[in-house]
Amino acid sequence: MTSFKIRVSRGDRVLFHNYCLFIFLFEAISDGRYLILHELRYCMEAMKMKITFYGTRGSIPTPGEGTVQYGGDTSCLTVETSDGLYIFDMGSGARVLGSELIRGKTDADVFISHTHWDHINGFPFFKPCYKPGNVLRVYGGHRRIALGRTWDKTEPCTNKCNEVNYTKSGFLYQQGRDFFPVALDKMGANITFTDLNEEPIINGFTSVQPFFHSCHPEGMFGYLIQNDGTRVAYTGDYEHDGECLGSFGPKDRTLIGIINGVDALVMDGQYDPEEYMTKKGWGHSNILRVCDIAAEANVGSLYITHHDPESHDIKLDGLEQLCQGYMSEVLCKDIPVKFAKQGMKEEILSRMVVAV
Ligand SMILES: [Zn+2]
Ligand SMILES: [Zn+2]
Repeated sequence: MTSFKIRVSRGDRVLFHNYCLFIFLFEAISDGRYLILHELRYCMEAMKMKITFYGTRGSIPTPGEGTVQYGGDTSCLTVETSDGLYIFDMGSGARVLGSELIRGKTDADVFISHTHWDHINGFPFFKPCYKPGNVLRVYGGHRRIALGRTWDKTEPCTNKCNEVNYTKSGFLYQQGRDFFPVALDKMGANITFTDLNEEPIINGFTSVQPFFHSCHPEGMFGYLIQNDGTRVAYTGDYEHDGECLGSFGPKDRTLIGIINGVDALVMDGQYDPEEYMTKKGWGHSNILRVCDIAAEANVGSLYITHHDPESHDIKLDGLEQLCQGYMSEVLCKDIPVKFAKQGMKEEILSRMVVAV
């Protein structure tokens, strides 16, 4: 951080970082010395991100009176930075997002963790896909890495061309004539599909770094989103590989290294500890193990998502409290833990700035 000495007096507004505006309220005490009574920090758009959860349920859409609070739509979230809108997964929550975006022109990047239904079933109902002039760049193709295959094609496939890559194939099957009345090539928007190779996608100040992990059947991409000094990580579906509370397997250690110090972590915590005992190997985490990983990685805040379809709102309220208590009283970490709710919007600031 760049800083320099300047003369200040009570009520002065001082700019001393090229991205941050600091406002200090001073009180003169003696001999030209001042006591800082209060300070406020405002960061320019380049330093903050906004996360919005459009779908927080795992496995299958789960409408009903027991899911009103946390939501019944499946995985979809957006991250807004100074460089635009980034969409992560296209579960049924994408329908709601599409209804918001259809009012204007859409030009967005879409990052798919994997193509299980609960992560792509909102795509055919995403209205911006049908509007000519809209541009969607869809990234994914985790199976290419899972299968150890190379891909020498450099240009992405489009929804209009006959070529197919790993990213496009899941969407193509989903809109096959036995399953949906509108084929992919009949959608009016310009949609491109690109297989990722763990290289970051960079746009202005924002980079999206995919990272492949095999902590779910067939593997998938998690994503690390960075915008100047602010970092957010999304694991997609993830099952820890540590054997017991407080221990970490090699895959957990790899993840902890990737997400170390992020300002916000969005992670799959589908099961409570008891449920997990009967669902080992299903590809989703025990909520307390998610807390262990977040604490070990020293993240700024933790958002647990991909809630089990059988977990109603009252149960999730209790599990959120359980995680908050575990984080503060057992792990002795001051890390806020929230269970993601559909429609929840969170502003994420870099701790580099907040912790001056
Ligand atoms: Zn899932
Ligand atoms: Zn899955």
